[in-house]
Amino acid sequence: MVQDSLATAFIGIGSNLDDPKAQVTRALIELSALPGTRVVAHSALYCSPPMGPSEQPDYINAVAKLETTLAPLSLLDALQALERSHHRVRKFHWGPRTLDLDILIVDRCVFTSERLTLPHPGIAERAFVVIPLYEIAPELTIPGIGPISRVYERFATAVISRL
Ligand code: ATP
Ligand code: MG
Ligand code: MG
Repeated sequence: MVQDSLATAFIGIGSNLDDPKAQVTRALIELSALPGTRVVAHSALYCSPPMGPSEQPDYINAVAKLETTLAPLSLLDALQALERSHHRVRKFHWGPRTLDLDILIVDRCVFTSERLTLPHPGIAERAFVVIPLYEIAPELTIPGIGPISRVYERFATAVISRL
């Protein structure tokens, strides 16, 4: 569903299969081509160790800031279609993947439904989200959590490198 009003959304992008840097770079271009959507900023690419099962390659991560007229569930549909177009296969939870696109934040939305939780759960516990998010939005307040600058302080020694 396309709505009239413009929302600001932050998207977490991750890949650790089939040329992850190219997957993430292509995803940024594809995000800007979604209906009613503009990528207004994106972070550098970061390399981070896998979360969960450790027998898998390191990840390339980035965060994009969008302005979009898509409603949150329509945005989720569009992101899942992009994941499928990158041939993502779900074998096990937090297993290796060609592309993961998570909606981190949409405006000040705080809600949980069957398909969508906003802000994304775990947003404040993941260095590969907090560090690129802080890079592009240091003044951001994460709805229900607080200023990103406070959260960022906790990741000063995180094992993640900017490419
Ligand atoms: P995690 O969500 O912990 O990062 P994941 O990204 O590997 O794990 P997926 O397999 O990509 O998990 O998604 C599982 C389900 O999460 C999706 O089918 C989707 O409906 C749901 N989901 C809930 N909230 C969100 C959100 N904010 N962004 C993306 N997917 C979400
Ligand atoms: Mg994810
Ligand atoms: Mg996901």
